[in-house]
Amino acid sequence: MSAIDDLATELSRLPGIGRKTALRLTYHLLRQPADQTKRLASALLTLGERVRPCGRCFNLTEEELCSICRDPRRDASVVCVVEQASDIGAIERAGEYRGVYHVLGGRLSPLDGMGPDDLTVGPLLERLRGNQTEAEGVHEVILATNPSLEGEATALYVQGQIAPLGIAVSRIARGLPVGGDLEYADGVTIAQALAARRAM
Ligand SMILES: [Zn+2]
Repeated sequence: MSAIDDLATELSRLPGIGRKTALRLTYHLLRQPADQTKRLASALLTLGERVRPCGRCFNLTEEELCSICRDPRRDASVVCVVEQASDIGAIERAGEYRGVYHVLGGRLSPLDGMGPDDLTVGPLLERLRGNQTEAEGVHEVILATNPSLEGEATALYVQGQIAPLGIAVSRIARGLPVGGDLEYADGVTIAQALAARRAM
């Protein structure tokens, strides 16, 4: 394997990048000044070294707690549960939500070998039981998993786990396209889906 093949192979593993685009990017990198390529390489390394899951909500951060968990203006009594940290960005862009989050780290997907133990449901339940330093306690959990079959199954599972705690659980409305990804939905759609959430 040549260096060119190596890089093209790694790039083609990225979402939305086919073999052809990967090769084009590789040749582009070869043509640009060496120090620019070095900056890209070091940014990639730093990303892997510094970014880690938030100790409370599993959002990505370079600190112990993420910027949302550290923000005293956020309403810690409402927790929005999402599949991936990237979903938080989508909801934040909508600009309506003032609560906090919990990142599951995926969705239930037997075909991909994703079971309940692969998700952060345990830490979520611990958090809701008040083992964390959230003074006021959580009074609502909004399940914002994707509107796909697996996302729905995941929402149902999480709801079943939370039910014994007596905390209100709601599900975002179906304004979102079925089978779509929260990450790619526009802000207005997400804001409407949140506003029209229903109790589970
Ligand atoms: Zn956090």
